Amino acid sequence: MSTRPVIAQRGDTLRCRGWRQEGLLRLLENVLEVGERPEDLVVYAAIGKAARDWPSYHTIVATLKRLGDDETLVIQSGKPIGVFKTHPLAPIVVMANTNLVGRWATPEHFYELERRGLIMWGGLTAGDWQYIGSQGVIQGTYEILAQVAREHFGGELRGRLVLSAGLGGMGSAQPLAARMAGAVMLVVEVDPERALQRVASGWCDSVAEDLDEALARCRAAQVRGEPSAVALIGNAAEVYPELARRGVTPDVVTDQTSAHDARYGYVPPGLSPDQVVELRERDPAELERQSIAAIAAQVEAMLAFKDRGAVVFDNGNNIRIQATRGGVARAFEIDIFTERYLRPLFCQGIGPFRWIALSGEPDDIALIDDLALASFPANALVQNWIPLARQHIPFQGLPARIAWLGHGERTRLGLLVNAAVRDGRLRGPVAFTRDHLDAASMAHPYIGTEKMRDGSDAVSDWPLLNAMLNCAAMADLVAIHSGGGGYSGYMTSSGVTLIADGSPEAEYRLQHVLDADTGLGVLRYADAGYGLARQAARDADLDALNL
Ligand code: NAD
Repeated sequence: MSTRPVIAQRGDTLRCRGWRQEGLLRLLENVLEVGERPEDLVVYAAIGKAARDWPSYHTIVATLKRLGDDETLVIQSGKPIGVFKTHPLAPIVVMANTNLVGRWATPEHFYELERRGLIMWGGLTAGDWQYIGSQGVIQGTYEILAQVAREHFGGELRGRLVLSAGLGGMGSAQPLAARMAGAVMLVVEVDPERALQRVASGWCDSVAEDLDEALARCRAAQVRGEPSAVALIGNAAEVYPELARRGVTPDVVTDQTSAHDARYGYVPPGLSPDQVVELRERDPAELERQSIAAIAAQVEAMLAFKDRGAVVFDNGNNIRIQATRGGVARAFEIDIFTERYLRPLFCQGIGPFRWIALSGEPDDIALIDDLALASFPANALVQNWIPLARQHIPFQGLPARIAWLGHGERTRLGLLVNAAVRDGRLRGPVAFTRDHLDAASMAHPYIGTEKMRDGSDAVSDWPLLNAMLNCAAMADLVAIHSGGGGYSGYMTSSGVTLIADGSPEAEYRLQHVLDADTGLGVLRYADAGYGLARQAARDADLDALNL
C-alpha cells in the first residue's frame, strides 16, 4: 500500500534528471489521482491497473528519478524489470502489458496468472499512464451522438431520450456528452456511491432511486427541450427489461457497464456488493454464470428497443459477445459504434489525440485551446469541439484536453506547443498521447476493427508495427497491450507518449512520431481497401507502396 493518496506533482520542480522522466512520472501519478480504486492501483475498466503491485510502483518511481536520458526502463505487465543503456533519442520507457500466447489468452488463464502475481491488465491507458479520467473518451462519445443525430434525427438530439448504463471511469463521460449533444440521458448505475459522486462532480444533473421518478424527470426535460442527465440507481439487467415491458422506447440505447468482465466487472441483480465479493471468492464460476444470464436479459431488452425503432449500438464493452454466451442469438444485430459511426474518421488518421499540462496550470490548456482554434480554422470538428469542451468539461487531475485531430494536424499542433514551451508562453512542458482506440493502434474484432472491408479484423500485426515504428521514430514511451480479464484473447493495442519540453530534441521526436503514428493508421485503412484512406494517403503524400 501507499501510505498516502498519490497526487501528481505540479509546478516547475524537477525530481528527475530531466523533463522526459519527470513528465512520465507525473503521468503515472496522475492516472492514480484520477483513477477509480487507487488503493488497489486500479485506474478504470474494472481491473485496469497502473502497476503490478505497490513494490513495483515504488520501484518505477525510484527508477524514473534516477534514469538518464540515454537509458531505457523496461516494464513487463506493470513490473519494472531493468534499465538498459540505449541512446539519447531512444524511448526512456518501453512496456508490454498482458500479452499472452494465443491459446493461453483466456480469462481463466489470465485470472490464474494475476492471482499468482505474474501479470496485470493494463487496460488501454492505465498501465501506460495515459488515462486522464472520464474526459479521455468524452469527445468520442459526443461525436458518436452527433453522428447519430445527423443520420437519424435530422441533426438534432434536443428532446430525445438516450438510455445507457454504467457511471464508472469511462462510463461517466456519457451523461455529459449527451448533454453537450443536446439530449436527455437516463443512465442506470448499480453503485449508489458512484452515482452520487458523478452528480457532485458535475458530470450528471441528478440522482433518482425510483424508475418512475427518473422517467418523470427525463420526460419533463424532453418536453422543455432542455439537455439533462438523470442517474438512476438500479441494475441495468432489471431496468432495461422493465422499460421494454412498459413499452417505453428510448430514441438511442447503449451500455457502458464493464460487461466485458463477468467476474470483476458486471454486477448481476439480487446481490449486494459484499455478496458479490463473497461469491467471487467462493464460487467465481457461479458469479460469472449469473452475470452472463443478466447481460443476456439486458441485451434482449436492447434488441426489443431496436425492433421498435430505437438506434442501438455497442459502446465498446464486448456486451454482445457476452450476451451470445448467454444464448442471445441475435446479439450481433446490434451495431458496434466504431464501424457504424467512426470509421471514416480513422480512415483519415483522425482519432482521440490528447495533451496534458504537466505544470498543472489550467491556463496552459486554455492557451493550447487557442492555438488549436487558430491553427485549424477549416476543421469543423475542432471548431465545434474546443469551445464546447471549454464550457462543459471540468478538469480531472492534471489539466488536459482531448481533441480528435488527424494526420499532419497532430504534428502541427505538437510543434506549435513545443515552441510555446520554449519561449515561455506555456508555464511548463506538455505531454502528448492518445487513446489506443486509434487508426493504427488497435486490433479488436468486436470494437475497433469489426467488419473491416478486407476481413483483417483480427490481424494484430498493425498495433505491433505501430509500436515498433513509434520506437524507431523516437517516442518517449511506447507500450504494447493485450486484453486482460474478460478481454483476454480479444485484443492487442499500442500506446505512445511524448513530452514536449521545448527542446530541439522534443521537436525532432514530435515531428517523426506524430507523422508516423497517424501515417501508419491511414495506410492500415488504405490497405484494407477504404477509398477514403487511399485518398488521404495520396493527399498527405505518404510514401505508400500499395496504393
Ligand atoms: P468501470 O469498471 O470503472 O465502471 C463500470 C460501471 O458499471 C461501475 O460503476 C459499475 O458499478 C457499473 N455496473 C456494473 N454492472 C452494472 C449493472 N448490472 N447495472 C448497472 N451498472 C452496473 O468501467 P469503465 O472504465 O467505465 O468502462 C466501462 C466499459 O467501457 C468497459 O467494458 C470498458 O472496457 C469500456 N470502454 C469503452 C471505451 C470506448 O471507447 N467506447 C473506452 C474505454 C472503456
